Amino acid sequence: MSSRDPFQSYTWKSDIFSCDSNDISTFYARLNEQVTRLGLLERKLGDAGRYPLNLYQSPAQKSGQPSLLISAGFHGEEAAGPWGLLHFLNELEPELFQQINLSLLPLVNPTGFKRGHRFNQLGENPNRGFVLDNGRGKSNDDTSAEGKVLLEHSQLLQAASKDGILTCHEDVLLTDTYIYSFEANQNPGPFSKHLRDTLGQFFPIAQDGEIDDCPVRDGIIFNHFDLSFEAFLVRLGASVGVCSETPGKQNLDQRILANSAIMQAFIDQVNARQ
Ligand SMILES: [Zn+2]
Repeated sequence: MSSRDPFQSYTWKSDIFSCDSNDISTFYARLNEQVTRLGLLERKLGDAGRYPLNLYQSPAQKSGQPSLLISAGFHGEEAAGPWGLLHFLNELEPELFQQINLSLLPLVNPTGFKRGHRFNQLGENPNRGFVLDNGRGKSNDDTSAEGKVLLEHSQLLQAASKDGILTCHEDVLLTDTYIYSFEANQNPGPFSKHLRDTLGQFFPIAQDGEIDDCPVRDGIIFNHFDLSFEAFLVRLGASVGVCSETPGKQNLDQRILANSAIMQAFIDQVNARQ
């Protein structure tokens, strides 16, 4: 039903950050401030065009603590994910790292983000082509340059997401919100419902029906395994997975706040499960 033009440019203005949604130099400058303040370890996984594809991790990861991965910015027009992650970091206290091992992929598709369009500068979709073959990551014809970098580090990302993966997307065609979620259950449990309701505090929850050919019920598309990054990590053993979808037809700052809130809720929920 919905079709997204992969090269249509979308930009908005953020009052929270006093810049345009595709202002990549401000984004990286503000990110670096938080990386320094929190003492995050920077690990360059590879290149995404002329930008580095970096993973950030909390210092001194401990074996007895849950390991969580939060990623954002796979699709360039879905700007509230990366800005929401920055907002979340602004509010974060480093004491949290005594409880969890946190890993972050703040901006997977910088070339698309800068242009405000979905695909990367090579015209590839960075959230496709994550194949699991005999327990190992493998690319296919759909795998993007960024995807290949992530697949090369699948063991590292598997360990980083052992207790959960949250990936933050947006749906520029909608005014309503929904999530994809993955749990080892027949039906969505409290984890999925709580994260959906976190977004529901900001936006109306999508009506039952189909979105991108997937059945959505009570705002949740449940255990839908495709060749996305998040489904790949769940196949690799992440205990839970969520892909949040904030509505691009709503105010950008509200979307940024919603993304920041779901990141905090994701951590709280996983901590509560331990
Ligand atoms: Zn997306």
